[in-house]
Amino acid sequence: MTIDLHTHSTASDGTLSPTELVKHAKEVGLDAIALTDHDTFKGLAEAQAAGKEFGVEVIRGCELSLETPDGVGWMHVLALFLPPDPQELQEAFDWVIAGRKERNHEIVEKLRKLGVNITYEAVAARAKGTVGRPHFAQEMLSLGVVSSINEAFSVWLGDYGRAYVPKRKLKPKQAFDILNNIGATSILAHPFALNLSLQDTDNFIAEFKGMGLDGIEAIYSEHSKADTKAYCKMAEKHGLLISGGSDFHGTVKPHISLGTGKGKLNIPTELLDKMKESRIAKGLPV
Ligand code: AMP
Ligand code: ZN
Ligand code: FE
Ligand code: FE
Repeated sequence: MTIDLHTHSTASDGTLSPTELVKHAKEVGLDAIALTDHDTFKGLAEAQAAGKEFGVEVIRGCELSLETPDGVGWMHVLALFLPPDPQELQEAFDWVIAGRKERNHEIVEKLRKLGVNITYEAVAARAKGTVGRPHFAQEMLSLGVVSSINEAFSVWLGDYGRAYVPKRKLKPKQAFDILNNIGATSILAHPFALNLSLQDTDNFIAEFKGMGLDGIEAIYSEHSKADTKAYCKMAEKHGLLISGGSDFHGTVKPHISLGTGKGKLNIPTELLDKMKESRIAKGLPV
């Protein structure tokens, strides 16, 4: 019995609609998924309806982009068990999405200055919800500027790419306060992406725990066995929940499969049960 608590749909930068995603979850034999689109809740109602139809539990989630506490880097936090109308978080997302619009225009400008004949309209037309770099990557692929999505990121769009533009991000304290207020379960996503030593990661996690962090995504597509073990140990040390997810995006991340990641990912349903127990102990709905 397995689950996947980190997935994306066309409500942000995934390529399956929420319904298709849930149907696919059923096909690959998952008990439950969390839909965790970037900066939006738009896909959740559809995913939940599909969950009822196909017999897959759908956890209402989203993925937030935050500054690191030192203000230098970025990190992602998953919010799970979102209430029906998280007004406070919606307001934060409105601010973030306004920043995304500016950023997307800046990326277009940079690319055009570098000789790439791309338009904002063509990129935006690829998105049904939140417009992000994967939509740029798809457009560049179809223009023949790159020969793979990966090349689009490594040469142009990624953190060290020629047309990189940083994203408007929430501050950790601000974000955790909101997540605590709305009663969401907060999970530090893909901790390896912090790009820190285990000791520095541990220090950050202690700090986030103080702000209200509930768990760590120790099981993740890009984590090695050693990474998973180290992050599970860290979770235990800090009394945090362990979460797991593939970060499935469909064909924009063709090497990642729903539930199984790069092939060997295995996320036991028991982790979700423990999350629910911890919520019930706090008087939060499950
Ligand atoms: P954005 O939210 O616009 O900054 O875009 C971030 C998204 O780009 C994340 O969801 C990643 O899944 C995706 N991404 C980052 N690097 C790569 C890559 N090398 N290949 C495919 N997708 C990527
Ligand atoms: Zn994404
Ligand atoms: Fe992420
Ligand atoms: Fe993600």
